[in-house]
Amino acid sequence: MELANLDWNSLGFGYLDTDYNVRCYYKDGAWGPLEVTDKKTLDVHMAATCLHYGQECFEGMKAFRGKDGRIRIFRLLAGAERMQTSCHGILMPVMPVELFKEAVKLCVKKNERFIPPYESEASLYIRPLMIGTSSQVGVKPAKEYTFVVFVMPVGPYFKEGMVPTPMVIMRGYDRAAPLGTGKFKVGGNYAASLMSGELAHKAGYSAAIYLDAKEKKYIDECGPANFFGIRDNTYITPKSESILPSITNRSLQALAEKMGLKVECRPVPEDELATFEEAAACGTAAVISPISRIDDPVRGVSYTYTTDGTVGPWCRKLYDELCAIRKGEVPDPFGWNEIIE
Ligand SMILES: *Cc1c(COP(=O)(O)O)cnc(C)c1O
Repeated sequence: MELANLDWNSLGFGYLDTDYNVRCYYKDGAWGPLEVTDKKTLDVHMAATCLHYGQECFEGMKAFRGKDGRIRIFRLLAGAERMQTSCHGILMPVMPVELFKEAVKLCVKKNERFIPPYESEASLYIRPLMIGTSSQVGVKPAKEYTFVVFVMPVGPYFKEGMVPTPMVIMRGYDRAAPLGTGKFKVGGNYAASLMSGELAHKAGYSAAIYLDAKEKKYIDECGPANFFGIRDNTYITPKSESILPSITNRSLQALAEKMGLKVECRPVPEDELATFEEAAACGTAAVISPISRIDDPVRGVSYTYTTDGTVGPWCRKLYDELCAIRKGEVPDPFGWNEIIE
């Protein structure tokens, strides 16, 4: 197999064509066989529920070419399980875990020449999604669904290495209601977050931070990423019914514990931001995005973590360890990698 002719070191995070995608159709109460195609478009009925009532959910994962040349998908099982939870949440049929895993592995294998070389900082991003496709104008779940998984090579989130960035608390916006769909990975939450995200970016921030929608007192999430703070050898991350359970966050908690940190998952009041030694966002795209400063313009307060671009020691350590596991440079004590033979 010859690698695709790409400049691996200048990849960003944008859509790129690869050779194949894998599809699976749900009809008459059952999932059909996996289909491999090179078609990039979907032919969807204009009255499909995904277009009108937001019946759509997705996942995001990465595959890596290891030091030993083997291909590893990081936390494939966790992604399969989370997609089932999302499907339950918006009345879509769940896809059996084994079928999901088979579809993802097949798609990665079929596009093997797009998996970046070990020496590059790039990886293969995997995007599974599911949509309701049957025509339905009354507000009801669809009877038919399409599952698609496509992949694309992406560059490192931070091209020049980790850089702390400022974030802003957007008190004028919520991304999810307290008992709403915030805990599911559905497109609707993203539609609800676009305006605040755009305003935050325009004002020079890397992301909007959302407070809990009910009391506006606790930290929920940082844009499309979870939040954590470090204080007194403790990893502290919000517990809330309206945040998306980040698999990266769960992985970091396990690593933190293994490194001897205490882990606390509980409501985090905004005032506690003043006490953290390090603060960061976490998710598949960047693993860890350290935060330099958090502004709360409405209250006229700022919480500063670094002013000279220094990355905190725990952020660095956790980041290095998680990245090393993904690329097979160190043992994988939790069995997180799915190796493709
Ligand atoms: C996907 C996502 C995350 C990060 O989850 P990971 O599994 O770590 O990639 C965090 N918040 C939201 C809203 C998300 O959609």
